[in-house]
Amino acid sequence: MRAADRHDVIVVGARIAGAATAMLLARQGVRVLVVDRVSFPSDTISSHQLQVPGVARLRQWGLLGRLTAAGTPPVRQVRLDVGDGLVLDGQFPAYGGADTLLSPRRTLLDSVLVDAAREAGAEVRENFRVTQLTTAGDRVTGLRGSARGGPAVTETASLVIGADGKRSLVAGAARARRYRERPVRSFASYSYWAGVPVSGGELYQRPGRAVAVFPTNDDLTMVYVAARMTEFALARADLEGHYLRALDLCGDLGERVRSGSRAERIRTTPDQPNAFRWPYGPGWALVGDAGVVMDSVSAQGMTSALRDADYLSAAVIAGLGGRRPLDAALRDHHSRRDRAIRGMYDFTLRLAALGPVTSRERRFLAAVTADQHETDRFLGAFAGIVPPEQYFTLGAAVRILGPRISRDRTAALARSSERALARAKVSAR
Ligand SMILES: Cc1cc2nc3c(=O)[nH]c(=O)nc-3n(C[C@H](O)[C@H](O)[C@H](O)COP(=O)(O)OP(=O)(O)OC[C@H]3O[C@@H](n4cnc5c(N)ncnc54)[C@H](O)[C@@H]3O)c2cc1C
Repeated sequence: MRAADRHDVIVVGARIAGAATAMLLARQGVRVLVVDRVSFPSDTISSHQLQVPGVARLRQWGLLGRLTAAGTPPVRQVRLDVGDGLVLDGQFPAYGGADTLLSPRRTLLDSVLVDAAREAGAEVRENFRVTQLTTAGDRVTGLRGSARGGPAVTETASLVIGADGKRSLVAGAARARRYRERPVRSFASYSYWAGVPVSGGELYQRPGRAVAVFPTNDDLTMVYVAARMTEFALARADLEGHYLRALDLCGDLGERVRSGSRAERIRTTPDQPNAFRWPYGPGWALVGDAGVVMDSVSAQGMTSALRDADYLSAAVIAGLGGRRPLDAALRDHHSRRDRAIRGMYDFTLRLAALGPVTSRERRFLAAVTADQHETDRFLGAFAGIVPPEQYFTLGAAVRILGPRISRDRTAALARSSERALARAKVSAR
């Protein structure tokens, strides 16, 4: 830590990744400044399903009560309908003391985290836009920016953390290298509806579409549609019609949604890049979407951001506290981050292709539905509770298909199921 700096760490961006990182660092006595160009509460383009492992982290950090007190409905029961009558209906498995998914509005969730960062002792500066990083040689030493309408100021610290999202200024200024980058696969539209009866979470897989329905705050229901990016140019002419027609492919969903009333505008975005960035260098680090961004179809970004904040803050505390050289701690953090997210990233890319469910996949899913415990495990793998790379294995295919068919056919089917699963085209949302 440099005594001359007023802050040990500056975090750029105060939403889920930034506020959580600032809170965790400040709770350990690190002097943190966290800035954001917006003020809170503030909405953002995000349909905000927080998966069970993300809920478990909020619980561990003592923040869950604030979301439930604000009336965020917990969801344990979930129904995945892959078409032609094949439905997986079950409950999310428990993880880390939590067993429900939550869909808190970002106006609520991000504010809860910002408040928690402030309470932990972090200085939070809202309406403060960062315009550049300051450097000495190749080391980042701080940043320049200004409050709305105010003069430009310089702030310095031992470490600047970019939690500034997928278009991260910090990553750009630090020239963070990109890898595992893949083209945009899907675009997403979602809105909020009043008076739509739902009894839990609903997920639908149709060729070229993934649909998700989850209850959120204020008795509203969030309804999300993903479609292939190749359709975007055509869909632009009538985005609302395109969105509603997708719901009509999902049993009575279109009818149920139309029987309610739309409470907010339909938000649509094709801005869904898929990429990893090298997450650290001399005097800088990245967290959340700034470090790894992926298609929204798997609804994993916020849960990953909380895990990333957890891992990064532990590395920074070890580094700044002198237990390890900071660079070494950040190097280990990099490997740990990539190990944790790689399987879900690959799985998400396959989901985002929105391909049809093949007959082999249907056979596998039909076998899964015959066993409630297996159905729950499958839904857990989709939600990232069990890492997909640990669930979608040859062993799982044999376990699930084995009793139903002869030995030779089991082996053959297991091999093809593995291939089919490796291409898993069923939506995880
Ligand atoms: C359509 C859609 C649906 C999604 N649905 C889900 C879902 O259901 N579940 C899920 O887990 N994830 C979902 N995601 C992904 C999720 O929204 C992101 O993963 C998550 O918001 C990343 O959080 P973050 O804190 O890293 O970045 P962000 O939320 O992007 O926050 C970055 C912050 O940095 C600030 N900032 C940027 N530049 C500057 C600057 N120069 N100066 C000061 N401040 C700056 C911004 O104002 C912003 O507040 C969805 C994404 C999309 C696009």
